[in-house]
Amino acid sequence: MTRRVLVTGGAGYIGSVIVDQLLERGLSVFVLDDLSTGHRDAVARRASFVQGNVGNGELVEALLGQERIDAIIHMAAFALVPESVAQPGKYVTNNVTAARVLLEAAVRAKIRRFVFSSSCAVYGHPAVIPITEDSPQAPVNPYGETKRDFEKLLADYGPRNGLGVVSLRYFNAAGATEQRGEDHDPETHLIPNILAVALGKQPAVSIFGTDYPTADGTAVRDYIHVVDIADAHVRALEVSLDSGAPVAVNLGTGAGQSVRQVVEVARRLTGRPIATVERARRPGDPPALVAAVQRAATVLGWRTKHSSLEEILESAWQWHRAHPQGYRGGGEGT
Ligand code: UDP
Repeated sequence: MTRRVLVTGGAGYIGSVIVDQLLERGLSVFVLDDLSTGHRDAVARRASFVQGNVGNGELVEALLGQERIDAIIHMAAFALVPESVAQPGKYVTNNVTAARVLLEAAVRAKIRRFVFSSSCAVYGHPAVIPITEDSPQAPVNPYGETKRDFEKLLADYGPRNGLGVVSLRYFNAAGATEQRGEDHDPETHLIPNILAVALGKQPAVSIFGTDYPTADGTAVRDYIHVVDIADAHVRALEVSLDSGAPVAVNLGTGAGQSVRQVVEVARRLTGRPIATVERARRPGDPPALVAAVQRAATVLGWRTKHSSLEEILESAWQWHRAHPQGYRGGGEGT
């Protein structure tokens, strides 16, 4: 049984919701985050917070030992496809090299479970939709390459050393809770950008690519509520692994939505017009990414409960209206 969990990147958008759910279940939670993209105010006060990078071996080793950590949820990484195309070295250094320091420390500290925040970006341009976990891995951007590379390192090295490994390949995380929401600078993600237009903070949302081989020509993604993603991590801490073998699991709904469909639902829910501008495709973007969800049901006993596009957009809309400046306007501090 896991009692004391380290969440790296726990000050980030998804990590902060995971921290809340772990605390609700009575676990002791430790957050390691260098605040390069996260927010101190996104971390629940009941969690212990350490500011630092996962590549700092001394710090990580001391934390794992002194706090008697028994499981790690590793979220700390850079996660923007366009930025990874512009600065691939930055992604390798943080997402692979620094993460490896954490992995080695985890093995030395005899941690029992390592849950890794991976991505559907490992699949690249999939030939078949929905995408099963056994589909070929051929990332089309440096971000996806770093996720594939660290997953492989983890799967090769962890179990041989007694570490139980679960990699969760998220599709498109979206939505909010009352207290935690998406606040990136710069914001590149579709849903917060749409809502910024609805709030009058931006004049129009860009539609990147209208000539994809999809029903309406815009790119298709599988949007999944951050609350459902967090729930999968909590489950992944306890699932029993077949002879200790590493496992990779998609987290998605199994249904895709086009950029235009997301804009339409947002218009309906917010009652705001939401102007759009059609632009060229964004480099590194595959046309369609939709998860096959069977393995998540079998391995984690998990299915989405909050991931209708309506619930995702409604929750995000509430959060952005309550926090128009994001965490800079003062977080909840709870
Ligand atoms: N997208 C868009 N306008 C935006 C942001 C994103 O048209 O302002 C498109 C993007 O090209 C992709 C989809 O929306 O096809 C989802 O992009 P996002 O950055 O949210 O997530 P990603 O799939 O890159 O992780």
